[in-house]
Amino acid sequence: MSEWCQNKKCPQKKNQNQMRGSKGAKYYQSNKVSTWLGHWCSNSCRDTWWQDNKDTCIQAVGFIDKQILPLEDAWYVEYLYDWRQETQDRYRLRNKLKGVDHHITQQQAQTEEQISQGHGWYTIDTTQAKELAIELGLAS
Ligand SMILES: [Zn+2]
Repeated sequence: MSEWCQNKKCPQKKNQNQMRGSKGAKYYQSNKVSTWLGHWCSNSCRDTWWQDNKDTCIQAVGFIDKQILPLEDAWYVEYLYDWRQETQDRYRLRNKLKGVDHHITQQQAQTEEQISQGHGWYTIDTTQAKELAIELGLAS
């Protein structure tokens, strides 16, 4: 980790806050990293760094082949906001690959923790959605 922006060209931004040194020997220096971005001071510096280093990064991570999500794993729960409808009626258990669009209750769509948090739009994850589909006899 470095406290300095990782974009080599950061000083070329020539911002006022990057000026250092005394008269006759002034220079621009890199900015410190933003805590939000981690290794860069700004999105533009991150983009420049990415353009310079993306080939090295992908080589280091390695290339992957085409990925597939099979039909039996394509379950998800969707929250459809509609003020005219009761909160209870806003949840669907779906699998478009199987052509299934099934109404479920809030108790089925959310974990107890999610219900207690009071955010209606949080739903169970895709693994839990698949388990629910099996439970309801929609999948095996
Ligand atoms: Zn920078």
